[in-house]
Amino acid sequence: MENAIIVRYCEIHLKGKNRGFFEKLLKTNIENSLKGIKHIFRPMHSRYLIEDFAESDYALICDKLHKIPGVHTFSRAIVVINELEKITEAALSLCEGKSGTFKVETNRADKTFSPNSVETSALIGGKILEKYGNNLTVSVKNPDFTLSIDIREDGKTFIYNETQHGISGMPVGSAGRGLLLISGGIDSPVAGFMTIKRGMKIDCIHFHSFPYTGEAAKEKVISLTKKIGEYNGGINLYVVPFTEIQEEIHKKCPEEYMITLMRRFMMRISEKLAISLGDQAIITGESLGQVASQTIESITSSNSVVKMPVLRPVIAFDKLDIIEIANKIDTYETSILPYEDCCTVFLPKFPLIKPNLEKVVKNEQLLDVDALIDRAISKIERYEF
Ligand code: ATP
Ligand code: MG
Repeated sequence: MENAIIVRYCEIHLKGKNRGFFEKLLKTNIENSLKGIKHIFRPMHSRYLIEDFAESDYALICDKLHKIPGVHTFSRAIVVINELEKITEAALSLCEGKSGTFKVETNRADKTFSPNSVETSALIGGKILEKYGNNLTVSVKNPDFTLSIDIREDGKTFIYNETQHGISGMPVGSAGRGLLLISGGIDSPVAGFMTIKRGMKIDCIHFHSFPYTGEAAKEKVISLTKKIGEYNGGINLYVVPFTEIQEEIHKKCPEEYMITLMRRFMMRISEKLAISLGDQAIITGESLGQVASQTIESITSSNSVVKMPVLRPVIAFDKLDIIEIANKIDTYETSILPYEDCCTVFLPKFPLIKPNLEKVVKNEQLLDVDALIDRAISKIERYEF
């Protein structure tokens, strides 16, 4: 008896004529993710099959599959030839040690196989009850587990009784490229993950205010970037030195404009970097009303300095909903580590909640915006994970 993993996708089925493009991309992404792990990978009728893997690699393969956008579900299966005896033997082995209720479901693509699917389910169900009737009973409506038997035309039958859920979404690379503004907080890694999940390949940019924000704060961002990079098929992080810009604003502009002006610098620098990288959108973790700087007036002020689309995947999410996703992708514990963030360094006592765009522009004219931006960009550090 051989083992295999059946990998299924979902939304791609809706893609009509473009379906081939999405299937090919998902196939490439899975192959890239499993590089270095011994296995054989092949497409099989709107699904993929992973075969010939070492038992000791099974958990690792599952972990990888859980992080590939586009993977809807997957099942570990026993593979036998299309013979009732072999199929029964495999079915019985899967029921060993189980208790509760079950049903058997058979799908017979090989029409030469006899008995038919209903009869096969009944026959094998009977054999299971014969052997394990003390612990197992049949429930067709609401079973604890379903034993699936897939009898295929190529002479192979797949038998399985568990299905794991992937993250679904669309294959990375199917929805263009974007640049995520990643802070050390909870929201931006979640915003990045959600965008990746819809098929956008992302790069990350972080504004670092050394020495006000130290190495530990940077390490935290690196660690968050790596975590979302696992879904992205690897990731690049660009760290921009932000201290000079903050000091200049602090020196020359009224205190309450700090955050508002800082945001405009961040957006401008991000757009320039995005263009040079071939990224088509900017992504932020802004959520409406969450903090004083996330009002529609503040967003208007920062949005008005860029032309590129700005995606804000968590804009209408409650904090608790964002935290739930952060926990799922394992970024929450890192995000709540108490390191300072560039926005807290020069935090004014009374930041503008509803900045007036005309006044913002006027105060910004006290700065040499272009020179500050050019200097910051010339000192960007790049990390590849
Ligand atoms: P987060 O939890 O992502 O830090 P937040 O609720 O703390 O978000 P803000 O601090 O107002 O909100 O930041 C809003 C968004 O601006 C962030 O989600 C992020 O996209 C971006 N941002 C803030 N600080 C930085 C930074 N130092 N580097 C890069 N992007 C940043
Ligand atoms: Mg923050």
